Amino acid sequence: MFNLKDLVRANIWSLKPYSSARDEFSGDEGVFLDANENPFGTLNRYPDSYQKELKQKLSAYKNIPTENIFIGNGSDEIIDLTYRIFCNPEIDKALTFTPTFGMYQVASDINNIELIKLPLDDDFQINVENLKPYLNDEKLKLIFICSPNNPTGNCFIEKDIDFILKNFKGIVIIDEAYIDFSTTESWLKVLNQFPNLIITQTLSKAWALASARVGIAYASTEILQLLNKVKMPYNISKLNQQAAIDALDNESEFKKNIEVILNEKEYLIQKLNQMESVKKIYPSDANFLLVEFDDANKTYQDLVFQKIITRNRHKLVNNAIRITVGTPNENEKLINGLLSISKY
Ligand SMILES: *Cc1c(COP(=O)(O)O)cnc(C)c1O
Repeated sequence: MFNLKDLVRANIWSLKPYSSARDEFSGDEGVFLDANENPFGTLNRYPDSYQKELKQKLSAYKNIPTENIFIGNGSDEIIDLTYRIFCNPEIDKALTFTPTFGMYQVASDINNIELIKLPLDDDFQINVENLKPYLNDEKLKLIFICSPNNPTGNCFIEKDIDFILKNFKGIVIIDEAYIDFSTTESWLKVLNQFPNLIITQTLSKAWALASARVGIAYASTEILQLLNKVKMPYNISKLNQQAAIDALDNESEFKKNIEVILNEKEYLIQKLNQMESVKKIYPSDANFLLVEFDDANKTYQDLVFQKIITRNRHKLVNNAIRITVGTPNENEKLINGLLSISKY
């Protein structure tokens, strides 16, 4: 039987969380003299620590109960919280498949946790055979699966993720930061079948709100309780909660933007494919392309010289540059920039 308590650090399981003034009285109406707030101004009150209105919007949109939704100060906060809740520093371990999103490593280093990195195969897929020996390690608490994966752009094969969900007894975190750009279905559909599953999404990419720092975790109510206990009391500012609510109210804008970005991605693929300096364009389920050039370092520098900034990923994938899909105008500048390089 799955027992969450066995996976949680003892100090976190027994933690008595901070009880804010708003935890002790949660009504909206009245004279509020309980939180040492300033009575004047417009941002004078502490924000809703549980982001109820925002969660209701997400709940309606995703068809997931609010009790299974956690909001973080970006997904980055959620990644850090999972280490702090489940991994004893210097004792427990986490695992991921590389190349992948760099925050899993940074958060593991901050928390003094070993991160095991299993290389993806030549198609950037998970090698399940390589993973098997690790699955029964009691010290292995977390597996991070980024799908669609950053920086490679692809989704992982469904049956491989399914195998991990069925055979790993620790916590599985599926990072779906780019899922709204993908034709692959979200793993949210199996959320209630796996008490050890955390799915993270974000408003930073497809919802165009990177500035607002709104990350989302979907998980069991038991995991939600732990996340709520450990997070900072008012982790999402009122301004950011409102920005998120406004974005979710404007679904047509969201859909229109995604359509433009996906069309532009196809256009970029077509143009890049005609360039001599381009060796390979990796398949992408996201809003970026990983492109192999004949000389990534030189191409990257030549683009910077023209004030076109891409992400040099040469150290992760040989001669690869990660290119985010921009506006039609920005993409045109990229194409012209690349064409002008090959001329000299
Ligand atoms: C961009 C990105 C995120 C988003 O992080 P936020 O903190 O929510 O902005 C999460 N995961 C991956 C893999 C990303 O590339």
